[in-house]
Amino acid sequence: MSTVLSSSRYASLGASSARFIGSAHRMLIDGRWVEAHSGKTFDVFDPGTGQVVARVPEGGAEDIGLAVRAARRAFETGPWPRMKPAERTRLLMKLADLIEAHGDELAEIEAVDNGKPLAVARRGIAGTAEMVRYMAGWATKLNGETVDVSVPGEWHAYTSREAVGVVGQIIPWNFPLSMAIWKLAPALTVGCTVVLKPAEQTPLNALRLGHIIEEAGFPPGVVNIVTGFGATAGAALAAHEDVDKIAFTGSTATGKRIVEASLGNLKKVSLELGGKSPVFVFPDADLERATPAAANAIFFNAGQVCSAGSRLYVHRKVFDRVVEGVIGHGDQLAVGHGLDPASQIGPLISRQQQERVERYVALGEEEGARRFGAPRVFDSDGYFVAPSVFVDTAPDMAIRREEIFGPVVCAMPFDDDDLEGIAAEANRTEFGLFAGIWTRNLSLAHKLARRIKAGSVSVNAHMVNEPALPFGGYKQSGWGRERGREVLDLYTSVKSVAVSLD
Ligand code: NAP
Ligand code: MG
Repeated sequence: MSTVLSSSRYASLGASSARFIGSAHRMLIDGRWVEAHSGKTFDVFDPGTGQVVARVPEGGAEDIGLAVRAARRAFETGPWPRMKPAERTRLLMKLADLIEAHGDELAEIEAVDNGKPLAVARRGIAGTAEMVRYMAGWATKLNGETVDVSVPGEWHAYTSREAVGVVGQIIPWNFPLSMAIWKLAPALTVGCTVVLKPAEQTPLNALRLGHIIEEAGFPPGVVNIVTGFGATAGAALAAHEDVDKIAFTGSTATGKRIVEASLGNLKKVSLELGGKSPVFVFPDADLERATPAAANAIFFNAGQVCSAGSRLYVHRKVFDRVVEGVIGHGDQLAVGHGLDPASQIGPLISRQQQERVERYVALGEEEGARRFGAPRVFDSDGYFVAPSVFVDTAPDMAIRREEIFGPVVCAMPFDDDDLEGIAAEANRTEFGLFAGIWTRNLSLAHKLARRIKAGSVSVNAHMVNEPALPFGGYKQSGWGRERGREVLDLYTSVKSVAVSLD
C-alpha cells in the first residue's frame, strides 16, 4: 500500500493525509480504536486509478453489537444526553472549528477515497463545518410548549422534546464527509448517541472524522464508527433490537430493505433515497445562467448526486440552443483524477458503478434515443465516464425512468404553457426529491412549484446547499426531512405531561 502512495500520482498529498491514508485503520467503538472481531479487513480503492490505497476493518454483526452496547451505555448513563444544551453547542462548535482546521487534509482524503476534484472537496468541507454550526445552535432552542387543555379542572400541561436514544446511521459514498455530518450533527445536537456505518467504498473520511470527534472531546461511546459491508454490518445495524432509530441515505431498493429490517422492534426510520429530478427551462429564462446550471445539475460530481437534474425539459423555442449549450459544457469539462488541479469532474465511485452507467448509455442507444457527447479516451484505469446527453427519448425508456447516478441526462422539449400538463410530466416518476424551474415569470414559477410533488424546488438556481432548508423526498425518494428545523423531529420524541392542580 505504501508503495502505491509513494508513486508520483500522490506526490501532492500533504504529510498528514498521506500518513492517515497509509496508516493501519481501526474502527471506533466505545472510545477505543479496534480491529474487527473477525480480524478481517477489506480493500479501499482510489477510483481515479483503480488501485488499492488502504485496508479497513470488515466490521460485522458482532462489532455492530459492541458498538450498539457502547452507544446504549453512553445514552443511558453517560454524560452526553445529560449535558447542559449550551455545553453540547460548545462541543459541536469546537468540532466545526476542527473540521475547518483539518480542511485540507479532509479534502485530500476525499479526493483519493471518493475521486472528487480537490477544489470541489474543499467547498464541501467548508459546507460541512457550517452544517455543524447551524445544528449546534439548535441544542439550546429545543423547547416544548405549555398547552391549554379543555378537560374539567385546573391543569398545568406541557410538552417536552427528548432525544430518541441510540441511533444507527447508514450513509452512501457520493459525499462521504457531508453525508456523515448531515447525519451526526442533528443527532448529537439533541443528545442522541450514534453508530455510524459509512459506505464500503468510502470509509476513510468517516474514520478520520472519528479522530477529530475524539480531539474535540466528545465522551466515549457517543459516536461509534463501524466500517463494513451493507449486507452484513449495515443489515445488522438496521435489524438491531436495541437501536431506537435508523437513518439511511442511499438507493430506494436498499431503503426498502432497511424498512423491513426495522420491523422487529419498530424502530423509527428516516430515508433519503434516489431521484430522477426534472429541470424546466422556459423560453423567457436567463439562458446565460440556465444553460450552464442545467449542465452542472447533472454533471456535477459526475452525476452521483441524489438531486441531480437528470430529466431536462426545455421549451421548444429555445431547445436547440440550450441543449447544444449543455452538450458543449459537458464536452469541455475536464474529467480526471481528484488530485489533478485541472480536473472539474472525477471518476465514478467504482468499477461496478462505471459499468452500470455504461450499460444505461448503451441501452439508451439500443432503444433508439440519440446520444450526444464527445467520445473520450482515458489514459488510466480509473472509473471514468464521459458526459452524455440523450434526445429523442420516450417516456417508458429506462434512461428516462430510472436513477442512473452518472453524468447522463435526457433532454425533452415541451411546447405549450399548460401548467397542469408540465407538472404532470414532472410528476411522472416514482421519485420526488427535487425540481428546478428557470423562468423570469414569478407567477408561473410559484404555480409550478406548488404543483410539483418533490421535497425541494429551486427557482433560477439548482439545489441550494443551505443547512437551514429542509431536504428530503416525496413518494419513493424517502421519509422525513434532513437539514433545517425539521431534521430535529427525526431525532426527538415529544412527551406530553399533564398535571392536575386540583
Ligand atoms: P446502497 O446499497 O443504497 O448503499 C448505501 C448504504 O447502504 C451503504 O452504506 C451500503 O453499504 C448500505 N447497505 C447496502 N445494503 C444494505 C442492507 N441490506 N442493509 C443495510 N445497509 C445496507 O447504494 P449502492 O449500492 O452503493 O449504489 C447503488 C445505487 O444507489 C446507485 O447507483 C444510485 O442510484 C443509488 N444511490 C443513491 C444515493 C443517494 O444519495 N440517494 C447515494 C448512493 C447511491 P455498502 O457500502 O457496503 O454497500
Ligand atoms: Mg474509495
